[in-house]
Amino acid sequence: MKEEKSFETESRQILDLMINSIYSEKEIFLRELLSNASDAIDKYRYCSLTKPETYPTKEHFIRIAADKKKRTITITDNGIGMSKEDIENNLGTIARSGSKEFLAQLEKAKKDQDYSIIGQFGVGFYSVFMVASKVEVITKPIDGPAHLFSSNGEATYTIEDCDYDADNGTQITIYLKKDEGDLHFSDYLETYKIENLVKKYSDYIRYPIKMEVSVSKPDLDKDGKPIEGKYHDEIEDKTLNSMVPLWKKAPKDVKEEELNEFYKSKFGDFENPLLSINVHTEGIYSYQALLFIPGHVPYNLYSENYEQGLSVYSRGVFIQDYYKDLIPNYLRFVKGLVDSDDFPLNVSREMLQKTPEMAKIAKNVETKIISELKKTKKNDEEKYNKFFEMFGEFIKYGIYSTYGMKKDDLQDLLLFHHLNGDKPISLEDYVKNMAKDQKEIYFASGKNLDEIKALPQLEAKKKDGVDVLLLDKNIDEFCVMAMHDYDKKEFKDVSSESDGELSKEDKERLDKLEADNRRTLDNLIEGLKGKVDNVIFSAKLVDSPVCLSTKEGISMNAERIINEEPGEKNEEMKSSKVLEINPDHDLWKAVAGLGDDEQIKDYASILYDEAMLLQGYDIEDKATFVRKLNALFVKAASK
Ligand code: ADP
Ligand code: MG
Repeated sequence: MKEEKSFETESRQILDLMINSIYSEKEIFLRELLSNASDAIDKYRYCSLTKPETYPTKEHFIRIAADKKKRTITITDNGIGMSKEDIENNLGTIARSGSKEFLAQLEKAKKDQDYSIIGQFGVGFYSVFMVASKVEVITKPIDGPAHLFSSNGEATYTIEDCDYDADNGTQITIYLKKDEGDLHFSDYLETYKIENLVKKYSDYIRYPIKMEVSVSKPDLDKDGKPIEGKYHDEIEDKTLNSMVPLWKKAPKDVKEEELNEFYKSKFGDFENPLLSINVHTEGIYSYQALLFIPGHVPYNLYSENYEQGLSVYSRGVFIQDYYKDLIPNYLRFVKGLVDSDDFPLNVSREMLQKTPEMAKIAKNVETKIISELKKTKKNDEEKYNKFFEMFGEFIKYGIYSTYGMKKDDLQDLLLFHHLNGDKPISLEDYVKNMAKDQKEIYFASGKNLDEIKALPQLEAKKKDGVDVLLLDKNIDEFCVMAMHDYDKKEFKDVSSESDGELSKEDKERLDKLEADNRRTLDNLIEGLKGKVDNVIFSAKLVDSPVCLSTKEGISMNAERIINEEPGEKNEEMKSSKVLEINPDHDLWKAVAGLGDDEQIKDYASILYDEAMLLQGYDIEDKATFVRKLNALFVKAASK
């Protein structure tokens, strides 16, 4: 029985694009199909470990055949095969996250009118429609009947029962499009072309990719000796790939190019990785690993459906993708695989998590990644800065989420924006540049760099040329709090109440001012009851009239961040504020000049609201603020 079905909408969009866009790299279709065949064999082999009665062990292969007359390429594998339901789920629907990313990129490309990025995209099975006018897939699972899937890449596909003369596996027949202008689809029928593409993209595939090739052999005389100058063609079965998994080769023999291609095909990415780490460790625990830091932030990295973890192989046999316990949460952006003889081969996936070997190897992998990052930071500043821009928050999260336990490992990977330079700075460099008498590492935090740089609390620091770290990411402040200090120098918020830096003269001057104005200050404290705990004179300010500091406990910035997060809040999540006044500013003079106790209490809110505004916060009652400020002007002017 033949059924006609529609592709789901998203699939159709991709199909459309595949067919209609101008792709620079149509040839990647072969890589995609071969990698699917290899995955299918991996799956079969895994089943024959766990369910040997249903899945007898066999020799696995992938075979390519080209038929110039029919203009077809056929790719056959004896892997897991698909049931009818599998066909619908896997080929009729986009289950693949990479394809969804493709659509996301497409939306972006449409907006920017820049289609170049899409041309580099591999979107799995559908890429076949770049070169095919029709595709037929015959597929059979070992414990079920065979089906034929057929589609010309338009809105629908058909599925029907069929015969297949193998026990299991998949055979894909590609009917090549007609040649047109520069597009020579016929090239893909040439043996040399296929050989080249296999070498280029699929050499590491662990199963033989075979093809019958015709080789020229010398004619032999009746004694079996070659006759000079006389040749004939013979058909020979040739394995096109070297079959050594890339991670089993000695790292020195692996070219960066190969790692890049491997990464792109295994992880469905369209960009080269930023960093590839090739690890071979011999010792109590031996393992090989290929670890990659993507060249761009995966579009779903922050979402729940991001699949985190490394692929696990044992003795070259694939066991599981996205194995979480091999990589700590804060390195979730790392992609890769680990192969170890110490991983037990025939255990269930649940058991795998419990082995002590796993934990040891996981620790080792983490250490390796950190040390490679440190190396990059030292040797390639530009690359490291790019890394940190993309994934730096995860490193900070690593420090914060482990309550500072990983501080020693991670602190030298950190970079922060800072006041005295445009490029982010490491803590090491910040400390190196500190003046002899500076004891603490200053930071200022807020919503974004512009707002932080405008903080009144920075005015005196700017005047004196003192550098300050500018913490503009939500995680930043929590990270430095978890660290407490770096190189025995404590982190110090410029917005915290005591400056610690007050010179003797400053202190004397402020103490005297305070004594002289005690009554006014008390009135202001009274007027700001519930909002601030204290009102003091400040040495931090140069141009601004006021600022708000916080006492021990959380800062205003931390309070803002916590309040933005969903969930219940408690009292400890509120900062306790101190209003600091610039005694040289006219606003202070105007308020103090009011003289009348009640009026000073009433006008205290102007000082508070101005500080809020200056620090980038909203104020509660804007109309009252404006009314009082205007009244103050009038009063001052009429004096
Ligand atoms: P991906 O390989 O990333 O999952 P593809 O679009 O390449 O995405 O393939 C979609 C799905 O179709 C695969 O996940 C697999 O389940 C199924 N599939 C494709 N080719 C084969 C094959 N040769 N044998 C068995 N299943 C296959
Ligand atoms: Mg695939």
